Amino acid sequence: MAGTREVPASWKTGLQRMTPGVYAYIQAGGLNVSNAGLIVGDDEALVVDALYVRPMTQAFQEAIRKATRKPVRKIVCTHHHADHTLGLIWFDRDIPVIAHRYMRERMVETGLDLAHYRGVNPEYASELKRLRQRFPDVTYEEGMTLRLGKRVVELHHLGHAHSKGDTVVYLPEERVLFTGDICFHYVTPATFDAHVGGWIRIAEKILKTFPVETVVPGHGPPGDKRALEKTLGYLRLVRREARKRFKEGIPARRAAREIPLGIYAEWMKPDRVEQAVMKLYNEFKGRGEQGISLHDARGG
Ligand SMILES: [Zn+2]
Repeated sequence: MAGTREVPASWKTGLQRMTPGVYAYIQAGGLNVSNAGLIVGDDEALVVDALYVRPMTQAFQEAIRKATRKPVRKIVCTHHHADHTLGLIWFDRDIPVIAHRYMRERMVETGLDLAHYRGVNPEYASELKRLRQRFPDVTYEEGMTLRLGKRVVELHHLGHAHSKGDTVVYLPEERVLFTGDICFHYVTPATFDAHVGGWIRIAEKILKTFPVETVVPGHGPPGDKRALEKTLGYLRLVRREARKRFKEGIPARRAAREIPLGIYAEWMKPDRVEQAVMKLYNEFKGRGEQGISLHDARGG
């Protein structure tokens, strides 16, 4: 519509019903404020991602108890980053945590630097003390199908996109896709741990092969497949502009300042373009697996 902003100024925090028994838990806010999901089956419920600090996870659990009396019996993690996994410790230890094999490996490798997180999230500093990681109990290789009675929940690992161990959670009957951080919606994608080229290929593959009607992104409000198309548009734009400047020998940080972001300039955290350009320069040099440190990425 003419005259209206494309980017909403904010969105609602809380549980939103996507289809009967399938919910997105959406959070509004800044860095490390992520989304989660709730899928209710015949006798049990499944949670997608566990959020970050305790007040966030407890608010999510409160919302789950209001939505269903069925017990949570499985947790699926879309990737290893702390904003999606730190909250695992606030769930009952008996509930199995499921993730891709590489997600568990990356989680063990990266460890948990709480001082770093207190630095980037001073507003939650008192919550970011004396915590440990909880690792997945069950890992899978290529794909896995979970059945909650009649409800079918597919886990797909399509390769290294946002992180090496990404899982997308797809409900084929309902055509709902929980993307984890393969989709960012009105929030600039974080790419410090990504393979941007792989991410572009995987987003294209999802759009071509999954008949998705509803997308629950890792950050930002839910949408339809246009949300994933917009993430893809950002990654393509930055890769195209970064490649030009890489060929001209322009250093990454300067290239990042020059890139015209167009509609993406209004998304949250537009300065993340810098980590994307640094990551892409590694990929152009044939070092695609080499990530950007959280320090160089200015907080993640
Ligand atoms: Zn995230």
